[in-house]
Amino acid sequence: MTKFKSIVDILLVGLILFQMFKIMRGTKGIFLLNGVLILYLAYIGSSSLGLKSLSTLLNWIMMMLIVALPIIFQNELKRFLESLGSKNPILKWFLNPPPIAPQSIDIVVEAAESLAKARIGALIVFEREDRLTVVGESGSPIDGVVNKVLVEQLFYPGSPLHDGAILIKGNRIQAAGCFLPLDNGLSLPQELGSRHRAGLSLSAQSDALVVVVSEETGQIALACHGRLERNLSGESLRFRLRELIEQSTEKAGPGVSQSGDSKMEVS
Ligand code: ATP
Ligand code: MG
Repeated sequence: MTKFKSIVDILLVGLILFQMFKIMRGTKGIFLLNGVLILYLAYIGSSSLGLKSLSTLLNWIMMMLIVALPIIFQNELKRFLESLGSKNPILKWFLNPPPIAPQSIDIVVEAAESLAKARIGALIVFEREDRLTVVGESGSPIDGVVNKVLVEQLFYPGSPLHDGAILIKGNRIQAAGCFLPLDNGLSLPQELGSRHRAGLSLSAQSDALVVVVSEETGQIALACHGRLERNLSGESLRFRLRELIEQSTEKAGPGVSQSGDSKMEVS
């Protein structure tokens, strides 16, 4: 029985550490977490070797870190708790996130088409069940109903919020100028830069759908579950967005459209 308990104990610790690494991958938090682990191992090593002064010093440093960690890892902790919360069916039911409104999709598709035509870069995030509070808080609050002029204006190069992403929840733009997590571990074709990486990273870390308009090529891409579908026409973007939303409401298995547009999977 004690053996069984120990196995469960170790598995649970492993699961928590794995989740933490997954969330922190590609952020500055991963370096800090590595540092903390090295310190901890050094502490275990020095105390088992009987190096009293060194282990006392390391113990003090670790005590200080325990106080400092929640401050240093503020964003990562929030994301961790959010991702735990989004996987809890009771919490999900309680929070009941508004579904993506079909008219928001039509407006975003139209805006993406005209932004692409004008070679204006854009990053548009649709929040779904996974909460994106940290992303929203990194930008400026908007809280306005999604409309084409507003979306286009926000990305217009002269606009103060054109850098970064807009966050859409239901039929409202929650925030603009948002910073998305950048996972440097994802391998991307050379021609794609940080805008595409940011969209892809968020889609790999959450169930968000991210529309990316390239300022360089005028192409539209869609990131979903760590996959980037590139070179989409307005019509295929609309089709994929609707399809993905229907799938998530019906809880159907993963399916891909046969629109002939290029898709790319990253790890
Ligand atoms: P494009 O095809 O439009 O050139 P790209 O993938 O080559 O896109 P960059 O040229 O590096 O990427 O685009 C830089 C812009 O992308 C920034 O000015 C900013 O607006 C946006 N961006 C980059 N990183 C992030 C991020 N982490 N979060 C939000 N927006 C970002
Ligand atoms: Mg570029």
